[in-house]
Amino acid sequence: MSFRLLSLALILSCLWGCAPQRQALKPSALPTAQATAQETPVPPPVLTDDQLLGLVLPPGMVQDPESGQYALPQVMESFWKLRDKAAQEGWRLILVSGYRSFKNQTRIWNHFDALYQKTDAKLDAKKRVRAIMSLVSVPGLSRHHWGTDLDISEAGLRGQLVNVHPDTPDRIVRFYDWMKLNAPQFGFCKVYLGKRGAVRDEPWHWSYFPYSRIYFQQFMAIRDFHRIMDARVRDAQYLMKNFPKVFQEETKSINTECSSETSSQSTVGSPQSPAKPQIN
Ligand SMILES: [Zn+2]
Repeated sequence: MSFRLLSLALILSCLWGCAPQRQALKPSALPTAQATAQETPVPPPVLTDDQLLGLVLPPGMVQDPESGQYALPQVMESFWKLRDKAAQEGWRLILVSGYRSFKNQTRIWNHFDALYQKTDAKLDAKKRVRAIMSLVSVPGLSRHHWGTDLDISEAGLRGQLVNVHPDTPDRIVRFYDWMKLNAPQFGFCKVYLGKRGAVRDEPWHWSYFPYSRIYFQQFMAIRDFHRIMDARVRDAQYLMKNFPKVFQEETKSINTECSSETSSQSTVGSPQSPAKPQIN
């Protein structure tokens, strides 16, 4: 798949992530509260299984006026604080993608599936699904459904979501190092380390752990997934037939410990891992 096509997908990602008709608050309109990666003064809203699967909007979502993206109130407030601290230290954070519905995730999934079918017609469904899963979560299994997970870029990256590789400019490596050091102070942890499962390393994907570690437990206890078995998802037949394996590959990728990586070396990939923008 060409870099140009992926870049195009990223340009569209704001549109995919945007959702109309929700509460829009300015950063100053919310009460101040300090959270760490382990605890928060505001308990997480109770979400139903359908909300965790992206089928129903979580309650009280707020919009970031700058990006137009949505998240749960406490998550957004913590992001604003992180963004303020970043600005004080010379980094301009860009919220690329927050909450996504099942429908939005399906649109992204189908976009990539169609690209693969067009550019690599020889791939069978198994290989194609595996390749897409490294870039995009299966609709219904994305953590972006929860309102807790954010894709964060920086002005120096021009809003792109990029991996670190040996040729990555120093400033970008320093930005990711800054995030690894500072984001956990505001409750945000990196969940895709690229060490196991289908999903690659994602230095841009940050999860508000005081909430998402609770939702993750609930998510792992869901036994009825028939509501996300939707024929409108491309390669749905393969996904339905192999769902246990797909679910395992998706969830195995997740870092549940909020272990911080403080060295840029830990995110430096091999020369074979190109700086592809990705949007799980
Ligand atoms: Zn993401």
